[in-house]
Amino acid sequence: MTEKQPAPANDSEPPPGGVGRPSLFGLTDETLVTWLGERGHQRFRAGQVLEWVYRHGAGTFDEMTNLSKSLRAELAASMTLFESRIAAKSESRDSTTKLLLRWSDRSTSECVLIPDDQRRTACISTQVGCPVGCLFCASGLDGLQRNLTSAQIVEQAMRVAQLCAPERLTNIVFMGLGEPLANYAATVAATRTINAAWGPNVGARKITVSTVGLPSQMRRLADEGLQITLALSLHAPDDALRRRLIPWAETVSIDDLVAAARYYFDSTTREVTLEYILLGGVNDQPQHAHQLSTLCKRMRSNVNLIPYNPVPTLPYRRPADDAQHGFLLLLRERGINAHLRRSRGLDISAACGQLRRQAASRK
Ligand code: SF4
Repeated sequence: MTEKQPAPANDSEPPPGGVGRPSLFGLTDETLVTWLGERGHQRFRAGQVLEWVYRHGAGTFDEMTNLSKSLRAELAASMTLFESRIAAKSESRDSTTKLLLRWSDRSTSECVLIPDDQRRTACISTQVGCPVGCLFCASGLDGLQRNLTSAQIVEQAMRVAQLCAPERLTNIVFMGLGEPLANYAATVAATRTINAAWGPNVGARKITVSTVGLPSQMRRLADEGLQITLALSLHAPDDALRRRLIPWAETVSIDDLVAAARYYFDSTTREVTLEYILLGGVNDQPQHAHQLSTLCKRMRSNVNLIPYNPVPTLPYRRPADDAQHGFLLLLRERGINAHLRRSRGLDISAACGQLRRQAASRK
């Protein structure tokens, strides 16, 4: 292992910037036009500012050299660009890079760059901690601290964009800390900004929102008119096992999720991706593959098998490689469109929540 230990978070540092000032990442092109218009500036200035931020990756207003000095000063006095500080950074041998960001209230969240052939994917968080508490996940161990704002969600994407510059981000997955649909308004607002031509301009079909399954919010998302991918974290093919792994499954049956997934497909024509973390000896047996294939045939879906990234202190293990491939084969033999996701960043604790817990335990 060539793990680069994350730089320790330094609590003697001043807090990150932006206290009390709104973030530019929370504005749309129209709200920025309005803000500038109220101060006597012309409409085209908004385009210039957004181009600096989202095309050139400007980190400060001072870099926006085609704006007057007085406008730059006005912007800097009124709003913030990057609120967070990078509290820790870990880079894997496979180039997966994880950042721990510290916000102005000193809370922390994680985001990850996953480079892969032609793709550069940012995995971002929607909450500080997570309220769901899946038994195999580091993020859920300490519960929910707070929601991230839409600006903070977009800022994570831009922090990851800085890592891959001058190349551009190609994909966004909302699979970091938190349950995106439990922070619905901020998740949708951030998605619209990330997708916008004036923003990071990541194609809607390259954006994936992952949920543990909130049927009413899945339907609401279907009606937003976005062409994004919905990923449903299933992790078990029947209610009894699912409820042992995911506390929120206690009140939501798989039948409810199938109905919501069918609604999503009917409204968007986008297949739902079923995420299935393979936990050795728990949900990776042949009967589970058979049950899962039967379930898949009830909706238009594809399956993403994710070998578990072990979390120290948790009693779950990653299945052996041949068990993973055997499970995949059983699904494919039954005509299911299934893929086994290649594990990335294993040497940097890339399972979500682990870097955050390491930094917290050092304090
Ligand atoms: S797996 Fe996802 S939903 Fe479950 S606790 Fe972790 S972050 Fe939350």
